[in-house]
Amino acid sequence: MTTTDDMQADIGEILLTEGQIQARVAELGAQVSADYAGRKLTLVSVLKGSLPFMADLMRSITLPLRIDLMEVSSYGGATTESSGLVRILKDLSSSIEGEDVLICEDIIDTGLTLNYLVRYLGGKKPHSLRICTLLDKPARRLVEIPVDYTGFTIPDQFVVGYGLDYGEHYRNLRFVGVLKPEVYADPG
Ligand code: 5GP
Repeated sequence: MTTTDDMQADIGEILLTEGQIQARVAELGAQVSADYAGRKLTLVSVLKGSLPFMADLMRSITLPLRIDLMEVSSYGGATTESSGLVRILKDLSSSIEGEDVLICEDIIDTGLTLNYLVRYLGGKKPHSLRICTLLDKPARRLVEIPVDYTGFTIPDQFVVGYGLDYGEHYRNLRFVGVLKPEVYADPG
């Protein structure tokens, strides 16, 4: 049986500790609360990787808000390279017309996923549309994305944990870390 201890053994370096993440998410929540005071805030999270971030961020925002969930896929299976293709696997449940929408993303890498989402959601006539990402990896950006809130800027490394996966695993780690290279090499 694979346990979180086994998963932790696959991590070469912890990039962000649980404490660092929680402190930064609280700061982001306070900033969003101040910026959106008196407005109709809707958080749109992009499954599955953004789930822990959205859950923590929404609880650190002190305003009334709605949430909605989308699921898109840009990576095929257990790979670490973007295919550039974006597919909608789950669409919004409610209209966002006239709403102040804040997209909650786990990580921006090439920017292709968000570039698509911003155009897609912008077409639904929200009052405003902004982006909040926990992690930003600017080194590999292929399209320019106006990011309004960034948790951490990180180097060009493939990271897992706090929602981020490799082959659908590691999402439940409480920290963000870099996998040991041998994990990619081992198909089992
Ligand atoms: P982009 O379209 O910006 O290249 O990639 C966005 C998506 O790719 C993210 O939402 C995430 O699912 C995945 N991704 C990009 N970089 C990483 C990474 O370092 N680790 C993991 N686990 N997923 C990543």
